[in-house]
Amino acid sequence: MILPVLLYKNKKLRKINKNIIKPINLNKIIKNMFDTMYYYKGIGLSAPQIGKNINLFIISINNKKMIFINSKIISYSKNTIISNEGCLSIPNIYVNIKRKKLIKVEYYDNKWKKHNKILNNNMSIIFQHEYDHIKGKLIIDYLKN
Ligand SMILES: [Zn+2]
Repeated sequence: MILPVLLYKNKKLRKINKNIIKPINLNKIIKNMFDTMYYYKGIGLSAPQIGKNINLFIISINNKKMIFINSKIISYSKNTIISNEGCLSIPNIYVNIKRKKLIKVEYYDNKWKKHNKILNNNMSIIFQHEYDHIKGKLIIDYLKN
């Protein structure tokens, strides 16, 4: 089911999103999020963008579906990389953002298996974008710096 994506003025996008306490069944929400993300041709979508204030986001690159629950960034590299980013909640706006090149992350997948990973380049950038959503931050906030 394709859901409406909340736009940047919506207050739900500014909330801190709580960790999910298992064993909530997230299958339906996750399926709807993928349907919605693919419909709008996104590569990532966070739960607050569909009005759910929980620590959950999805990413899809190279046709691979990835699900991130209760994500946390453990550490960052000093090296940075500039990325030009858009957001489904802010149509037609692109912002250059200085992101960390490498990040060390922790998260659970939809089977509640815990992962510890080092992400780089594109994966690192998209993860940081979606993780910003979990913290109530949007790409337009970087324009203030
Ligand atoms: Zn976004």
